[in-house]
Amino acid sequence: MGIDSKVESQMILEGKKLCKYYGEGESQVKAIDQVDFSVQQGEFISIVGQSGAGKSTLMHIIGGLDAPTSGEVLINGTSIYTMPRGRLALFRRREIGFVFQAFNLVPSLNVWENIILPIGLDGKKADVAYIEDILHTLGIFDKRSSLPTALSGGQQQRVAIARAVAARPAIVLADEPTGNLDSRSSRDVLDLLRLSVQKYNQTLIVVTHNDEVAKLADRTVRVADGSIVLEALQ
Ligand code: ADP
Repeated sequence: MGIDSKVESQMILEGKKLCKYYGEGESQVKAIDQVDFSVQQGEFISIVGQSGAGKSTLMHIIGGLDAPTSGEVLINGTSIYTMPRGRLALFRRREIGFVFQAFNLVPSLNVWENIILPIGLDGKKADVAYIEDILHTLGIFDKRSSLPTALSGGQQQRVAIARAVAARPAIVLADEPTGNLDSRSSRDVLDLLRLSVQKYNQTLIVVTHNDEVAKLADRTVRVADGSIVLEALQ
């Protein structure tokens, strides 16, 4: 790797002139309109805004889940929406770790099996020592053989975080990660999410309407009416 590519590789995500329009004519909704957005390796960013502001749309576009009407998303320098659909699915599985409000664990698999599932789907071998370390960091090592139903909401979300971090993705993308938790578990989960992204040098983007959650990030991006209206360092 030359010096140039090393410098470039620090920019993990770039969104260029992103637009997502629904419908046409007078009823057209510009969910996202001409948004430029970039994230450095290791940054923790929060995306905030009122309901309907365009956060989910932006998250889906960044996460490779939904193509923009126009504009470009580069992850590690790769323009993701120019890839064929199958390759994008593979890229997404390898490079984006998702944490959703609803945890999305497989109920018939235990904690360990849930965490290594995406790695196995990718045909790779799990790094057992690394994943054990993640489980210790998140305080769920002794739960590794439990089924998700035997865990509290906060513990389930910690498993989802472990799963997202375990595959060493380029970006961890969390959509309202504490939306289903009480305030105490929310705090624990957020502290642990932040701790694990720092410890494992992961890049984290959290989408939230909760300003308390947003404040924990290094940088907050506020979305209103489909545009970025404020970028603030914490
Ligand atoms: P947020 O996540 O901030 O609540 P969204 O990204 O879900 O906002 O929505 C932004 C705007 O785009 C809203 O006006 C919403 O009604 C509209 N929108 C989102 N998805 C669709 C869709 N599939 N069809 C039409 N309009 C949509």
